Amino acid sequence: MDMSDQKRMGEDYASRDEVLAIQERKLQQLGQRLQGSAAWQKHFGAAGISAADLTGRTALSKFPTLEKADLRAMYPYPMLTVELEKVMRFTATSGTTGLPVLFGFTARDWRETVVKQLHRIFRTVGIVPGDKIYQGYGYGLWVGGSSMDEAIQSYGAVNFPIGPGRSDLMPGWIRDHAYDATTMSPLWLMTLITHAHKLGIDPRKDWKLRVGLFGGQSVSTTFRNEMEAMMPEGFKAHNIYGTTEAGGPILGISCEHSHAADEMHLINDDSVLTEILDPQTLEPVGPGEVGELVITTLDKEASPVVRWRTRDLVRLSKDPYGCPCGRHGFPLVGRIIGRSDDMMKVRGVMVFPSQIEDVIAGLPGTVKEAWQVYVDSREGSMDQIEVAFERTPDASMPSAQMEEELRQQLRARLGLTCAVKCYGEGLLPRYEAKATRVIKRQQP
Ligand SMILES: [Zn+2]
Repeated sequence: MDMSDQKRMGEDYASRDEVLAIQERKLQQLGQRLQGSAAWQKHFGAAGISAADLTGRTALSKFPTLEKADLRAMYPYPMLTVELEKVMRFTATSGTTGLPVLFGFTARDWRETVVKQLHRIFRTVGIVPGDKIYQGYGYGLWVGGSSMDEAIQSYGAVNFPIGPGRSDLMPGWIRDHAYDATTMSPLWLMTLITHAHKLGIDPRKDWKLRVGLFGGQSVSTTFRNEMEAMMPEGFKAHNIYGTTEAGGPILGISCEHSHAADEMHLINDDSVLTEILDPQTLEPVGPGEVGELVITTLDKEASPVVRWRTRDLVRLSKDPYGCPCGRHGFPLVGRIIGRSDDMMKVRGVMVFPSQIEDVIAGLPGTVKEAWQVYVDSREGSMDQIEVAFERTPDASMPSAQMEEELRQQLRARLGLTCAVKCYGEGLLPRYEAKATRVIKRQQP
């Protein structure tokens, strides 16, 4: 370990006061930088404020939030803030809910900032240089795979940039290449485990995987526990969280202690400042309360964001700065409860897909990665929810009994009566990346 390694380790264990002081200083610098940007000055000006007023955290709370519509209105290069020639590469949002939005990275953004942020995540989950990593995130404009490549390689780990897919090949490769760690969607790993069993490979004995960084969607604790039980002894499925707007999968990661409680550290809060705000009032929420993550990039040169509304809802931990791991500068939050976009209002009741997932995952004999919610709206009548799930062939309960059980549990949990339909294994859609769990159907 050389001096710079020690310094980086030290930063991981910065006190909350030290992190707040860094935020204060970087916010001032950001304010100075944005004074030179016509687009940002226009955005702030519409709220009667100027970039020059951005002097620290207290000042930040008076700044307007930034939404997708703001960025779309500035097509094709919203809030770029550097000359186009200075951009090393672009990434884009997935565009699942409309036109993709492009975000630029300067060489420094890409090779220093993102890499530094991801290296801290690697250290938090115990990935070490020399580890063999199966990189399973997608490539192209999506930030996931390519940012991981950059970080894995510069960390001194061995990169296998496979991307998503190849379910017939991968169970054997995981065994023969003896990967130590992987980055992918948790649903994809579940699919690979199922394929492995079909190929006569037992992941518990034949694979060496020690750690997984699972992003793209969050899964219930039950799902995760079941998945871990089918993996080699000691395997940890860590939740990782990030967004394109933040500059990569760099916002949240669970540590060795918070993993069990299903909580993540906002691990780069000294580089991407996170506020957790009530989605209606935009006031900060207290420990134990649910709020929306709102982010401000402090180090990004191209396409920075100030108070970007992620629409992701999390619960701030009851004890955000008390994790036994010692990373007290970086608050703990629970897994993503849902997106305010995904929130369904059915007959006046607020429903999150994650609540439905919890109920399905809690019933023995269900296939954890395959389920769908259909919302049927009919002109002149109330919305109906239909929940579709799969039954494993060896489930002890018959289909009709499982349907009835889920119907009762969903009513207890959501306060709603749902139609519940059981399917055989493999009949519902599978998703390699972000799952589309809620499908709206217009009835005649
Ligand atoms: Zn911790």
